[in-house]
Amino acid sequence: MITVREPARDIKVINDVDIVVLGGSCTGVFAAVRAARLGAKVAIVEQAGAFGGTAANSFVCIWHSLTDDTYQKQIISGLTEEMIERLKAVPNGMRIRVPKENKWRAPYYSMYVFNTEEMKIELDRMILEAGVTPYLHTRYSAPYIEDGELKAVIIENRSGRAAIRAKFFIDATADGFLGADVGMEVYYHESFQPATTGARVAGWEKLTKPNDILRTDENRLRIGGRAGWEINVPGTKNVSNWCKAQFVGDCSKADILTESEIAGRAQVREMMNILRESDPCGNELSLVALSPMIGIRETRQLKCSYQITGEDICYGRTFDDAIGYCAYPVDVHIPQKPTTFRYLDGWERHSTPSGEIEEIRWRTDDGEYPHYWQIPYRAILPAKIPNLLVCGRCIDSDKDAHGALRVMISLNQTGEAAGVAAFEALTSGKTVQTIDFASFREKMRTGGSIVL
Ligand SMILES: Cc1cc2nc3c(=O)[nH]c(=O)nc-3n(C[C@H](O)[C@H](O)[C@H](O)COP(=O)(O)OP(=O)(O)OC[C@H]3O[C@@H](n4cnc5c(N)ncnc54)[C@H](O)[C@@H]3O)c2cc1C
Repeated sequence: MITVREPARDIKVINDVDIVVLGGSCTGVFAAVRAARLGAKVAIVEQAGAFGGTAANSFVCIWHSLTDDTYQKQIISGLTEEMIERLKAVPNGMRIRVPKENKWRAPYYSMYVFNTEEMKIELDRMILEAGVTPYLHTRYSAPYIEDGELKAVIIENRSGRAAIRAKFFIDATADGFLGADVGMEVYYHESFQPATTGARVAGWEKLTKPNDILRTDENRLRIGGRAGWEINVPGTKNVSNWCKAQFVGDCSKADILTESEIAGRAQVREMMNILRESDPCGNELSLVALSPMIGIRETRQLKCSYQITGEDICYGRTFDDAIGYCAYPVDVHIPQKPTTFRYLDGWERHSTPSGEIEEIRWRTDDGEYPHYWQIPYRAILPAKIPNLLVCGRCIDSDKDAHGALRVMISLNQTGEAAGVAAFEALTSGKTVQTIDFASFREKMRTGGSIVL
């Protein structure tokens, strides 16, 4: 391998904070805001030009129900509910779909469909109101370690390379970049769920059964995957938000990420071509936007102090150190194979690539089934590093658990817990491993989270 040597140089420290959060999806923003509202001095670093991560920048505009699977008991609140309220107050910021019995059953169909652009604005407001210092178009690039301790992060942006010093660090980059750089063990599941380029398309409503066209064997071959879902942008009848294209690979690697962006856009073009050729109104389709970032479902996980398993989820295992709750089913997508939805009530449904539904019982006993599952604090907690927490989709989980945890109503809670736990450690002079959990839970509760 040919190498060049970068000369050593001093780097300016541009900020010295209590807590720095890397990654600015709702997971990261909620971590930052929770800590700042408690009184910490917080900075947040995001490589894109807007906060919102996959939700806003990859057009994944759906949050699921905040209740258990009976719809009778609310189990999620905190900043997820606050964001829903904020978007409800904006004209066409949010559309609520009422739960109804259907082929997928609860809680899949109870959802909040948000306008991703309005969400970006609300996240800016939340950050500024809480007094968090934002760094947009700024990429975390390396840790700074002194005497064996994580002391700062090196960032890069238009003004060059600089350092942000902090006492505590929250890795919300989704791929666990900081965690991996400071030596946390990284692992992969046996296969990746696909990444998807988002698109906004006008004229979809004029077509006759376009999904049936896209899902024929021949057209799936042309697209190179299955055609995923679409949903109208709130307040519009003619702008369809597509999350349809699919690309499989480890998008935590630069070359594969580049390939995925180009392949995803080409798939959108191919779907438009197929519809233009096959439907009399196909030429009325107009491509309004492509997502600024491909949406990534899965790359790698970080080994923390506990790995959540599919059994923990499906049997609703309770944890003394629970930091969040959710009722979303195990949901694993594999291109050209049936998508699996494994529900808490014992049913497993498979959606075949051509759109049919198969149904089996995964649970054969007659035991009481749970109505929600829990996320333990240990799954976001590195075993050794005293001032680092991780949150978002890279938390410690096996393949099936990841399939359920990866939805945003769940991950948002991992961010909020990370922010509050970092504050708890900061103000009590403890490490993230030794915080007083009762005091942490009280802060979660008074900050708006449901603590069961
Ligand atoms: C097509 C698709 C459909 C989905 N459907 C749904 C759905 O209907 N409902 C649902 O709830 N979930 C859905 N999901 C899953 C969900 O969207 C993701 O699992 C979730 O958004 C991941 O959140 P995160 O905070 O872990 O990561 P991200 O949203 O990816 O956030 C990570 C952030 O960190 C930033 N970042 C990364 N590296 C750096 C760095 N070095 N420096 C600075 N910033 C950095 C990124 O730019 C990004 O903003 C879907 C996912 C996809 C792809």
